[in-house]
Amino acid sequence: MKKTLSIIVPIYNEKANILLFHMALNPILENLPYDFEIIFVDDGSLDDTIDEIKKLTKKDIRVKYLEFSRNFGKETAMTAGIDNCRGEACLIIDADLQHPVELIPEFVKKWEEGFEVVVGVRKRNKKAGLIKQIGSYLFYKIIRAISNEGKIKMPVGATDFRLLDRVVIEEFKRFTERSRMTRSLIDWLGFRRIFIDFEARERLNGKSRYNFWKLFRLAMSTFVSVSLLPLKLTGYLGLFITLVAGSFGSYLFISKYFFDTGFARSFSGLAQLAILLVFLVGIILMSLGTIALYIANIHGEVRNRPMYVIRSRKL
Ligand code: UDP
Ligand code: MG
Repeated sequence: MKKTLSIIVPIYNEKANILLFHMALNPILENLPYDFEIIFVDDGSLDDTIDEIKKLTKKDIRVKYLEFSRNFGKETAMTAGIDNCRGEACLIIDADLQHPVELIPEFVKKWEEGFEVVVGVRKRNKKAGLIKQIGSYLFYKIIRAISNEGKIKMPVGATDFRLLDRVVIEEFKRFTERSRMTRSLIDWLGFRRIFIDFEARERLNGKSRYNFWKLFRLAMSTFVSVSLLPLKLTGYLGLFITLVAGSFGSYLFISKYFFDTGFARSFSGLAQLAILLVFLVGIILMSLGTIALYIANIHGEVRNRPMYVIRSRKL
């Protein structure tokens, strides 16, 4: 009896890539002594991606799919794949060939050696724009610094290109949060992990499905879900402001009324008040914004809506 491996491919508007991806994947799987299922999770593509997938199912019986009713995001698409796979292990991979399929045998080898989570780590992505590179670097650094679960460190460049053993899959299914970063949830689970470095290639066809704002929102919601620091920070900030404003105010007051320095006289009462007010309003708005982020998160979770909605499936 051969073991079964599930290949999970989140896919959004990849009409031009899906056949090429399948063609690249096929010879790799051919040489591995396993049964495979290839689950495409169509994340509400606006092009005919789903038709391409359906055509593929006719040619290759290992191809299965889930079709979302709309775009729920890659994190959710991966979750749906993990929820519905049947293999002894699953491997998550992008459809744009940025995750090299040639590395799959290496992932599987590590798994056979006893590792339960095999993580692809992207070495510097020269092709990505400077802003994306800096943003991505900062993202990992901040996550590492502020994560409440200090023991689970996400290495810089750790991607979704991952293999999970069945035990990890079963534990992963117990997560209920809707706003999620699949990577950090997997890291949170622990287990025996190993990292495999790879060079990200240039994307095959089309542009990244993530623009600046989409990435920014993802980063923000991840910060909120892994850390309470932003919330606490507002308190510290308040303390800091009170101390600074208090000291400066006292300094002005003392130097004006006791020593009468020119510097103190140059601040009219109105100017002092204006500075103070603008300052405080800024602080209050910032704090409110941060609290709002958390409330939004709680709100999203307590509504307890389904995580994704499926229009059609072949499993
Ligand atoms: N993707 C998805 N849903 C989305 C955005 C992207 O399923 O809302 C898929 C996409 O089709 C690809 C993978 O996630 O297979 C990675 O996306 P992309 O290449 O656009 O991201 P990047 O490589 O730039 O991080
Ligand atoms: Mg990509």
